[in-house]
Amino acid sequence: MEKVIIIRYGEIFLKGKNRDFFESLLIKNIKFALKDIDCKFVRAHGRYFVENFAENFENEIVEKLLAVFGVYSISVAFKAVVCEEDNFLAIKELAFELISDNEKFLDGASFRVTVKRADKRLSMNSTQIASDIGGYILSKSNLKVDLFSFEIEISVDIRENGFAFVYSDVLLAVGGLPVGCSGNAMLMLSGGIDSPVAAYMMSKRGTKIFAVHFSSPPYTSDMAKEKVRSLRTICEKYCTEIKLMVVPFTEIQLEIHKQCPAEYMITIMRRFMMRIAEKLAIKDNCGAIITGESLGQVASQTMQSINCTNAVATIPVFRPLIGFDKQEIMNIANKIGTYETSILPYEDCCTIFLPKSPAIKPQLRAVERAESVLEIDELIVRAIEGIEIC
Ligand code: ATP
Ligand code: MG
Repeated sequence: MEKVIIIRYGEIFLKGKNRDFFESLLIKNIKFALKDIDCKFVRAHGRYFVENFAENFENEIVEKLLAVFGVYSISVAFKAVVCEEDNFLAIKELAFELISDNEKFLDGASFRVTVKRADKRLSMNSTQIASDIGGYILSKSNLKVDLFSFEIEISVDIRENGFAFVYSDVLLAVGGLPVGCSGNAMLMLSGGIDSPVAAYMMSKRGTKIFAVHFSSPPYTSDMAKEKVRSLRTICEKYCTEIKLMVVPFTEIQLEIHKQCPAEYMITIMRRFMMRIAEKLAIKDNCGAIITGESLGQVASQTMQSINCTNAVATIPVFRPLIGFDKQEIMNIANKIGTYETSILPYEDCCTIFLPKSPAIKPQLRAVERAESVLEIDELIVRAIEGIEIC
């Protein structure tokens, strides 16, 4: 029996003038998610379907679709032939097969059958067909019908073309807006727990992510860089393709370390990161920068520290985790599959040359004075020249 996957998308953003824009992005992203799987994407009756796939790919397709922002739910459905002359036997048999697969089947669970009938040529209306199918299920089981508080629902969607889709489960997907509809943003991607989660949160609202990572070889290793590449790949499941730029940061760190007061090391370093991220953002047509900062989490994320870093940015800096506890961030990292990679113990450039007592409440004027001994522009130009696209 042929199976199809029904994809439901959020109606809200598809209303109005921008419908085509949103819809074409959503379709593009769904096709990107399924690009390595042999299947057919079909658009019909105000919905999308995935058809013509081999049985062993079903789980993979489901998993990928559930991670596409803009998709609200999906159902794996059987496609049955509609034949009123034999009292919808094919549909009934499928409905029974589906319900008998349910784990609650043997407990005498309650169920309902919900029928939608687009084919108005049929003599029975949807309520009559539903009770006919329900009667068939009752005759072969000890389940009971409860139209209002049911444990299992069997849905039958009768289309105009002589076919019906029969399904039971509705799987909730990630929701959100299609990636790309809110523009581009440059993510500062460390190897830590927070920044991949920040990517997820911003993608959920339709942002297309570009990423920059600062690495300080030989103080940071190739393994640390590999880890960031893996995090990028995991995030791509939700965010679609992410361009990753790795900026050599050693010279800048050594210069700060040599010439600036130790207590401002982190703040000045962050200001360099921010300046470089902004330059790359503008080059790649990004309207904002994203970081994984959360207020008060560490010394560099106090309000005063954030103020000092923010002062060098001229485009908006989004911090989607600002109000999250670490545990909440870790829960999302687990859900999206980045956590295990994030906790691999490779060094980050932020963890080298760390002063014993960093300024927790740095003052902007003092920081500006401290860094004024550096050849800021030249250092930035050289760092950008050394960028590697990974
Ligand atoms: P994360 O878990 O994301 O590394 P964190 O809790 O370790 O965050 P910090 O090290 O203070 O916090 O970093 C704050 C933010 O600065 C990160 O979320 C990230 O956006 C950015 N950042 C830090 N280190 C780097 C890096 N090496 N390359 C790019 N961005 C970085
Ligand atoms: Mg970090």
